[in-house]
Amino acid sequence: MRKKTVVITGGAGFIGSHLCDKLLGEGFRVISLDNFITGSIKNIRHLLREKDFIFKKHNVSGYIKIKGKVDYVLHFASLASPVDYLRSPIPTLKVGSLGTHNALGLAKEKKAVFLLASTSEVYGDPLVHPQPEEYWGNVNPIGIRGCYDESKRFAEAITMAYHRTHRMDTRIVRIFNTYGPRMRVKDGRVVPNFIYQALNDEPLTVYGKGLQTRSFCYISDLIEGIYRLMLSRNIFYPLNLGNPGEFTIIELAKLILKIVPTESRIILKPLPEDDPKQRRPDIGKAKKMLKWRPHVELREGLAKTIDWFKRPAALY
Ligand code: NAD
Ligand code: UDP
Repeated sequence: MRKKTVVITGGAGFIGSHLCDKLLGEGFRVISLDNFITGSIKNIRHLLREKDFIFKKHNVSGYIKIKGKVDYVLHFASLASPVDYLRSPIPTLKVGSLGTHNALGLAKEKKAVFLLASTSEVYGDPLVHPQPEEYWGNVNPIGIRGCYDESKRFAEAITMAYHRTHRMDTRIVRIFNTYGPRMRVKDGRVVPNFIYQALNDEPLTVYGKGLQTRSFCYISDLIEGIYRLMLSRNIFYPLNLGNPGEFTIIELAKLILKIVPTESRIILKPLPEDDPKQRRPDIGKAKKMLKWRPHVELREGLAKTIDWFKRPAALY
């Protein structure tokens, strides 16, 4: 029987490379596209000899051409860390708009299922807590995070337009803060930052007073949720995936200081503009529709991530 083929954009990134592993393990043929703006060959080197794995270096904000049958297109290409998208706002807007248009075009041509990686950032600095999928959000379109938030809001809008106009089989996952092995040490997001700082006896840089909250999901839980969503039927509206355990940033810093033997202490730095004050997913829909829930507690997931960051290879 012919193996089903999945195209993964952003397939050399943190989440994208874990998806490549999962889908190859489940018996799919995987075509991974990435321009390495934030991803790395390191994340997929172990797959390059697999007969069902193809990697193409390609910027998906330009036209995407793939020969042969494609059954699924998973659009994960985007800058994702605030540090990255603040440095490169135009590539961020392009990959969320032009990149999503191209990925949809590929899925349409191939009559493939299309799955968009969206984000909890579509809720902006939320006035409703926890955030259910029905909440429309509180986003500053012209603030410094607008390049990311609005690119993803546009991506959701064009995905729904393709679904409604062309009757395409689409999915939208709103991912809440996810962490784990293969995040870049210098990615800038809070978990890799604090782990790197603790492992190197540097001060943990808590922004503001550290009272803002986030809900952290371990990568294996997220990947299982995405896989179930990909195989589901008739879930066209966005679905939240994340871990509802909610922590202040100062609690996260203290937890990391408990796990890592270190000389580090906590220092306070200015809070970046438009930094959301609270974030926790309402995952009622995912529980019901996918029979999914996260299993890895923050302490356990952090311990696994810290072990991975301790390997000398993680530094390069
Ligand atoms: P990442 O930076 O590790 O991965 C993104 C990948 O996309 C990188 O490999 C990058 O090189 C690639 N990419 C970016 N622009 C591209 C382009 N124009 N053409 C081809 N490749 C391009 O980040 P991640 O955390 O793995 O995020 C993956 C996806 O999940 C993103 O769409 C992100 O918005 C979404 N997401 C992630 C989180 C999270 O907590 N990790 C939360 C919400 C949403
Ligand atoms: N943060 C912090 N110190 C850091 C990096 C981030 O206090 O070194 C804070 C940041 O201000 C935000 C939270 O941690 O409130 C999560 O930031 P991250 O960049 O991981 O993702 P976000 O959820 O903001 O997209």
